[in-house]
Amino acid sequence: MPVDATQPYDPDNIFAKILRGEIPCDRVYEDDYALAFHDIAKQAPTHILVIPRGAYVGWDDFSARASEAEIAGFVRAVGTVARNAGLVAPGYRLLANSGIDAGQEVPHLHVHLFAGKSLGPMLA
Ligand code: IMP
Repeated sequence: MPVDATQPYDPDNIFAKILRGEIPCDRVYEDDYALAFHDIAKQAPTHILVIPRGAYVGWDDFSARASEAEIAGFVRAVGTVARNAGLVAPGYRLLANSGIDAGQEVPHLHVHLFAGKSLGPMLA
């Protein structure tokens, strides 16, 4: 069921449970603002999800309510994950699904980082 980006935050969503350590993840990075882990159903040779530690449904929520420190910390974390994975030179793609038409499935903001092959043109 796609996420309605205007819904209240559900503290029992799967990424909230990962953040609380209630279910495992294949972690690649964490700091005060973000956690990054491998996607469970990868769609590219490298497919990492980066999520903020704060309780935000999606991009709209995050951009409207998050503090400057949270926003800066999250953006820096995404860049750090890509650098640490050696992806700057070969390149990578960032994608954040927001809401119903984008097909967002998990109601906690996440950025997909795709890499490891030529990714072709953007999706329509
Ligand atoms: P969305 O469609 O942008 O919301 O993407 C959600 C992503 O979360 C999908 O690519 C799923 O494969 C991924 N996912 C769902 N549950 C888990 C999990 O427990 N661990 C890692 N990735 C997950």
